[in-house]
Amino acid sequence: MTSNTPVSDQLFDRAQSLMPGGVNSPVRAFGSVGGTPKFMVSAKGAYLTDADGKEYVDLVCSWGPALLGHAHPAVLDAVHAAVDRGLSFGASTPDEANLAEIVKERVSAVERLRMVSTGTEATMTAVRLARGFTGRNLIIKFAGCYHGHLDGLLAAAGSGLATLALPGSAGVTAATAAETLVLPYNDLTAVEAAFAKHGNNIAAVITEAAPANMGVVTPGEGFNAGLSRITAEHGALLILDEVLTGFRTGYAGYWGLTGRQEGWAPDLLTFGKVIGGGMPTAALGGRADVMDYLAPVGPVYQAGTLSGNPVAMAAGVATLTHATPDVYAYVDARSLELSAALSSALDAEGVDHSIQRAGNLFSVAFGTSTHGVHNYDDAQGQQAYRYAPFFHSMLDSGVYLPPSVFEAWFLSAAHDDAAMNRIVDALPAAAKAAAAA
Ligand code: PMP
Repeated sequence: MTSNTPVSDQLFDRAQSLMPGGVNSPVRAFGSVGGTPKFMVSAKGAYLTDADGKEYVDLVCSWGPALLGHAHPAVLDAVHAAVDRGLSFGASTPDEANLAEIVKERVSAVERLRMVSTGTEATMTAVRLARGFTGRNLIIKFAGCYHGHLDGLLAAAGSGLATLALPGSAGVTAATAAETLVLPYNDLTAVEAAFAKHGNNIAAVITEAAPANMGVVTPGEGFNAGLSRITAEHGALLILDEVLTGFRTGYAGYWGLTGRQEGWAPDLLTFGKVIGGGMPTAALGGRADVMDYLAPVGPVYQAGTLSGNPVAMAAGVATLTHATPDVYAYVDARSLELSAALSSALDAEGVDHSIQRAGNLFSVAFGTSTHGVHNYDDAQGQQAYRYAPFFHSMLDSGVYLPPSVFEAWFLSAAHDDAAMNRIVDALPAAAKAAAAA
């Protein structure tokens, strides 16, 4: 494939001799869509600029964090001010409590919070905490849900593993894998059956609040509520992974859109992405009696040199302060507008598809119009080959989509009419390319 981005090509050549696959996170390598990944040098509002000086409307938004748009002035001001006070103190700081208080005020299921640096650390700690609290070993996860790269949760993990068609990861011991029960998503009967068989030894069920790592999948009516009921009946915990959905799908995350009204609460929640506004911060929170099992109060150990980093806390506080209900209403409306335009462009070319939606998150699946995508088997059974030509057509038109059909499309408060028009104008050619695949 000839490239119109020679600088990215050179940078990728160099990177490949220095880093595995030339990247520090697998999906960035464009493995499933082909071609050279674009190296980005700056981002502002709804736009990314690559090393060749080409500008793209960004529909990845750093995989979620950039809810306000890139380089939001208030967030940058807060970060600059924090940087001027020093980068890291290895001690407690006022902003840790400020951010925790904001989270607690927004998500009433959070009684205590601990900051960590990545979503993986948040879910890893939540799993260890659930085992420590219950004295049990087994964890239930759902096929197609991604919770980060902790050993025990890499089976049928969606995201980059789906993109690379990997069933799991080498390097995970059989003993570790045996402590995870992988069940089909949206299937409460399977969950009941697993509890009937192993109930006394199941520490927790972990689930994405709404899956977005096998493409987006809507939790079926009563599915998450059912998980809450079943775990409570058996003395296990429900860990709701809101690393991706938290503070993106709504003011109080996906649980705030659904579970809170339905009258159930998870025992633990995990957050990442938007909570750090683009800086490396994540968190876990939930019931005080469970969270107080963490050291130094309780016996479950967890720590981090850069946990609660002051610059990251400043970015998180500024981001959540500006992520007002109006921001969510705006992103929701843009998401509906874009998915409708996408659907009609595909319809115009006769491309069979379904729009997969959960709140303002959406993705497209090909060849799925009759049944939609409700679980990992459905996601993997789609005509995924249509995505690469679609993706490259959009890229050539200056729109940066996630480089995998198994990822959600992310919008921001900075996606204004000009940005939206550029995306919508690019859709017909991309739909044609998908049709020809
Ligand atoms: N949980 C979910 C639902 C995620 O989407 C992700 C990352 N995409 C993670 C956990 C892991 O977060 P991180 O990449 O920060 O480790």
